[in-house]
Amino acid sequence: MTEAADLAPIREAVRALCPNFPGEYWRRLDRERAYPEEFVAALTKAGFLAALIPEEYGGSGLTMNAAAAIMEEIQASGCNGAACHAQMYTMGTVLRHGSTEQKRRYLPGIARGESRLQAFGVTEPTSGTDTLSLRTTATRDGDHYVVNGQKVWTSRAEHSDLMLLLARTTPREQAKSRTAGLSVFIVDMREAKNNGLTIRPIRTMMNHATTEVFFENVRVPADNLIGVEGDGFRYILSGMNAERILIAAECIGDAKWFIAKAASYARERVVFGRPIGQNQGVQFPIARSYIGMRAAELMVREAAALYEAGKDCGAEANMAKHLAAEASWAAADMCVQTHGGFGFAEEFDIERKFRETRLYTVAPISTNLILSYVAEHVLGLPRSY
Ligand SMILES: Cc1cc2nc3c(=O)[nH]c(=O)nc-3n(C[C@H](O)[C@H](O)[C@H](O)COP(=O)(O)OP(=O)(O)OC[C@H]3O[C@@H](n4cnc5c(N)ncnc54)[C@H](O)[C@@H]3O)c2cc1C
Repeated sequence: MTEAADLAPIREAVRALCPNFPGEYWRRLDRERAYPEEFVAALTKAGFLAALIPEEYGGSGLTMNAAAAIMEEIQASGCNGAACHAQMYTMGTVLRHGSTEQKRRYLPGIARGESRLQAFGVTEPTSGTDTLSLRTTATRDGDHYVVNGQKVWTSRAEHSDLMLLLARTTPREQAKSRTAGLSVFIVDMREAKNNGLTIRPIRTMMNHATTEVFFENVRVPADNLIGVEGDGFRYILSGMNAERILIAAECIGDAKWFIAKAASYARERVVFGRPIGQNQGVQFPIARSYIGMRAAELMVREAAALYEAGKDCGAEANMAKHLAAEASWAAADMCVQTHGGFGFAEEFDIERKFRETRLYTVAPISTNLILSYVAEHVLGLPRSY
């Protein structure tokens, strides 16, 4: 599947921006566990983070393939889009399921980057992957809901104005079906921080700005409920294909970066009087990584094309995410091996990218859950959980 030629200019534009944020920039932030404010501001100014917001709401109105190309190029340039990728797709829930008034209220500000909607509160410490057993509650009280509970791994919460929150509005035993009783809200964290919302950073092996968030009687206006009360799980699921496709595209970018680095080093590094890349033991793993990356890239494009055509792409989005995450992790490991000792040196950026790309076989959905999805929904095998 070849790519549409009209994506070339957007790829060029991202490639032109990223060199302003070289390895030293990312290394410093990584050491300090600091947020890449300047990088995010530059992407915002260029309109890249508003790629999927329609023009009528002030966005760039681009296709999913164009959005995927943006994320891929960011990673392939050695930068890290994880700091802001959610600004691109979290708004999709408002766009698809919000009222006209909510779209008018939120989307233009998000498109301009004046309000950041890049915190996504789903995972909880006790429920993990089993989203339907989450315990955070939102209880109606007049023209508000009162939220109590805890989220974990809520990335970018400290760098977000708004959060998309999934909470239980009907007790599980009273809900009309297994998947009913959860609702989605936009929480204005600027207001909530002084009114019962506490954010605590979690330090991880890579610089990811992730946090745990505590809600103690946080009052959220009923106007901030998205769609119909109790249907929230369905809304969250509908946003997951976009998330998977875009993160898969990031993994493709990472894999391209690792492969280019390794091939370049293998051509130049001379040991035993010849370039190390002349040894099949060195060149084959690079070739194998390239083949894996290309196969994954085709599945990402297929998933994006189906998404754009408004067709069901659940299987393809999951498979794209699975293949791309495996491909980037395999390429990362190969790149370290190709560089020998220098693969571990901070100044080569490889160990940093190695840590960063490791995330994607676990989040936003782990490999096992993708395999379960394909087993059940594509192959008709019995549900395993
Ligand atoms: C850095 C980081 C950022 C994140 N950002 C966000 C965010 O912004 N918002 C958000 O809501 N969440 C976020 N997450 C959470 C992420 O989506 C979850 O970590 C992920 O879905 C796995 O859930 P868990 O960690 O609770 O693992 P668990 O559900 O406890 O699973 C642990 C392991 O068991 C396996 N497992 C569980 N059940 C089964 C089963 N039935 N069959 C086979 N294997 C199974 C899983 O595959 C996994 O390998 C983030 C996580 C990390 C680490």
